[in-house]
Order: sequence, then C-alpha cells, then structure tokens
Amino acid sequence: MLVAVASGKGGTGKTTVSAALASIWKHPVLAVDMDVEEPNLHLFLKPESVRVETAFLEVPVLDKALCKLCGACAELCQFKAISLMGAHLLIFPEMCHGCGGCMRICPEHALQKGQRELGVVETGLTADGIPCLTGRLRIGEAMSPPLMGKVRQRMQAMGDQELRDIIIDAPPGVSCPAMTAVQDADVILLVTEPTPFGLHDLRLAWQAFRSLGKPMGVVINRAGVGDDQVQAFCQEKGLPLLAEIAFRRDIAEHYARGGILAQLDAGMKATFEHLAERVKRLAGEPCHA
Ligand code: SF4
Ligand code: SF4
Repeated sequence: MLVAVASGKGGTGKTTVSAALASIWKHPVLAVDMDVEEPNLHLFLKPESVRVETAFLEVPVLDKALCKLCGACAELCQFKAISLMGAHLLIFPEMCHGCGGCMRICPEHALQKGQRELGVVETGLTADGIPCLTGRLRIGEAMSPPLMGKVRQRMQAMGDQELRDIIIDAPPGVSCPAMTAVQDADVILLVTEPTPFGLHDLRLAWQAFRSLGKPMGVVINRAGVGDDQVQAFCQEKGLPLLAEIAFRRDIAEHYARGGILAQLDAGMKATFEHLAERVKRLAGEPCHA
C-alpha cells in the first residue's frame, strides 16, 4: 500500500504526520521524502549510514559541425528548450525535461547526449530499521519533477523488492510536484489546521486531488486553535476526518526538538496507531470525492 501525506500549503504538520505514521506502521514500511525542494523528513526519522547518489537528466548537446539548421528539433520540443534564431540553434538545458525526442529525430545526428545535474537521491536506515529515501534538489535547479521521477523509480524498486508499504511525504501545495507525488498513492492523507487559511488550502487540495479518483482522508493538526469550518467542510464533502492532533505546548516542544510525535506519550502513540488502522481501511474503501 502506498500512502501519500499531502497538504494544500506548507507548515501544517504534514512531515510530522508522515514521520509518526512511519514509526508505528506495523507492516514493513519505506519512508519517502518527495518534498525535494525542502526535504525534512530525515530530521525526524534520522536515518544513518546515508548513501548519496547524484541524479542526472539526459539533455541534448549540439555538434554545430553536423547541424544543418533544419529546425525540426526546435519544432518538436514542447518546452521551448531549443530555439532556432536565424543561423543559430540555441539550447537551454535548464528548460529541458529530458524526453530525448530531439536527439531521436535529428536527421544529422547533431544532438548528442549530455547531462544536467538534478540533485541527489539519499538512502539510509533509521535506528528502528525503517529504510528512508530522500530526494534533494540541487540549489539553482528550477524543476523538481525530473528528480522526483528518479526518487519514484528507486521507491518502486525498494518497495517491490522488500514488499514494503510506502509512506510518502509529498510537497505542499497542488502544483505539478504535489500531483507527481500523490499520483501512485492508494490513499491520500490531507493534513490541515482548523483556521480559515487551513480550510482554503484544504479545499484547493481536495479539488486538485479528487480528479485522481483516490480515497482521501483528513488529519487536523493544532486542533483547538481555530473554528470548526474544516470539520463542516469534511462533512459536506464526505471526507473522513481520520485524526485530530491537539494544539499543545508539549507537542510543539517535542516537534522543535525533532521528536517523533507518536513517541511523545501513550496517548499520541494510540492516536497514530488508530490513524494507521483507519488509513488501511480507507485504502479498501471506494473514493469519497
Ligand atoms: S534537428 Fe538536427 S539538424 Fe535540424 S536543427 Fe536540430 S540539431 Fe540541427
Ligand atoms: S530532450 Fe525533449 S525536452 Fe529536452 S530539449 Fe530535447 S525535445 Fe526538448
């Protein structure tokens, strides 16, 4: 089973929930940080002996001596990464998505395979034996989906090999990276807070993700700080409210120390064990969208 923990905006407690769920998950589990622009799941799970591999994207490199300036590659590229300007063919590797189409169609074989560094993929193991997989985007790299694709390939291999369930800490928001992160999920958990901003972003996330036809459930973090509009929204849309995490000083202190919430006390452990059971049941339920 693959569980994606998402939120309409950052700072709702998505990573807190991901780490806590992974820590109490009964079946062997793989924890994946897909928030490659700002990964922080490792701050809570603290994997050791981390192996770091650099990830690259295949991009075209022009051999000017062979190019006949026919313009076919520029016409093909959907991402405007190649442009024919008079007698000059310009390539913008930072805009390339690595589809390889230009290199395949060039009749003169003037486009060779080059590389653009995307970032790194890290693998490690927590003290409790939970494998962790993290994507970390290179500073200056503008696009996260290609690196997320590399993380996804590794995730599928690790999940399949060891028959593990997978918990993904998805990027916040509802743009392309977030959609990429939740696309394979069996269940999407939406973490929010009971405030007007929380409701606004929950609504956006629900609207964006429901097109995927996956079961979704809601976790309210910092319960008690705001109003009950999130609960009302969940009821109206038939979104199951799976857990509420109270707004408490000891929780905030535990979080600030990098502690895993399910390990704070017996009550928190029970909260997340109950959440895990509800998530598993939801995976078998029809879509609530
Ligand atoms: S398709 Fe090949 S020959 Fe034509 S413009 Fe592109 S690189 Fe040059
Ligand atoms: S590999 Fe694909 S995305 Fe990159 S420049 Fe060529 S056609 Fe464009």
